[in-house]
Amino acid sequence: MSKKLLYNLLAVLVLVSLVLAGCAPASGGDTAESATDAAETKIVGISMPTKTSTRWISDGESMVKEFEAMGYETDLQFADDDIPNQLAQIENMITKGADVLVIAAIDGSTLTDTLSKAKEAGVLVIAYDRLLVNTENVDYYATFDNFGVGVIMGSQIEEGLDLKNAAGPFNVELFGGSPDDTNAFYFYDGAMSVLQPYIDSGKLVVQSGQTGMDKVSTLRWDGIVAQSRMENLLSAFYTDKRVDAVLSPYDGLSIGIISALKSVGYGTADQSMPVITGQDAEIASVKAIIAGEQTYTVFKDTRELAKQTAAMVDAALKGVEVPINNTETYDNGVKIVPSYLLTPFSVDATNYEKYLVESGYYTADQLK
Ligand code: BGC
Repeated sequence: MSKKLLYNLLAVLVLVSLVLAGCAPASGGDTAESATDAAETKIVGISMPTKTSTRWISDGESMVKEFEAMGYETDLQFADDDIPNQLAQIENMITKGADVLVIAAIDGSTLTDTLSKAKEAGVLVIAYDRLLVNTENVDYYATFDNFGVGVIMGSQIEEGLDLKNAAGPFNVELFGGSPDDTNAFYFYDGAMSVLQPYIDSGKLVVQSGQTGMDKVSTLRWDGIVAQSRMENLLSAFYTDKRVDAVLSPYDGLSIGIISALKSVGYGTADQSMPVITGQDAEIASVKAIIAGEQTYTVFKDTRELAKQTAAMVDAALKGVEVPINNTETYDNGVKIVPSYLLTPFSVDATNYEKYLVESGYYTADQLK
């Protein structure tokens, strides 16, 4: 009896395996392929920090364009510079099945738990222009040469005051970006790599004595905060002196600084504006450059950054070599994040047409 049962069982097993062997290559292959096809439309969650600065709107829109042209679905969200809002938006993207997250963080250190969830769900994570810190769950970083951006700003002040030739001394005040954004430190350090030797030699003087990111940073890159700090500096240190240059790392701060300067009479025939830097080539600042109020900005072509990011994502998802050009600089506290750094450009009244209008970044009308 038991032998018979065994034979019967073996016969069933043989039959089952024959059926499986017969079916698998023919119908199974096709089914597997069409299932992959159906799953091909991958979703890219794009989390941008704010709409108050036009650059992030351009970044978001350019990415939607690039990703959709490559056949991806996109989910673009702006977080109103509110950290809980950004966390909720990203968690929602993960829940809705995002395959990729492209994140420009408000505060690069607040997303650690959310990014663990993303990794558990197998999501590819790209830090977009702002580094994600204190996490191993970030795959790549797409950005500009951030130290280089700072060097441009320092060199702009050097050029604007003709520091190589002029005797000086000149008065300068320094502004830094948001201390929760690693970029702010690269910008400051890059600028100081040019300015510090002049401060050391006495050709540049910081009348307020306020130097170092712990003293000059501007939380959340807030132009109002910069404006009131500039007002305080002017009334405390410049009632009988002139400020000759202001290091500003972002156009939104520069606009606030310019308002403070105008309110005490700068920008008139008797009292010309100091040399003022900026970053992002925002429309308000390009207009201020054309009007002779702001001296410089740094142009970072967000179209190129979007294109680069899409190329990195596409390569990573296809399992081919991801284009990166830096594996040394961006230590996020846990690991060095493989990065691609794009080139920033110095823009002023003499070349804005070439960089911003001829390149199609803005129309001439937008700058009127
Ligand atoms: C970006 C700058 C921008 C700043 C304020 C930084 O992380 O790199 O381009 O000016 O944030 O939005």
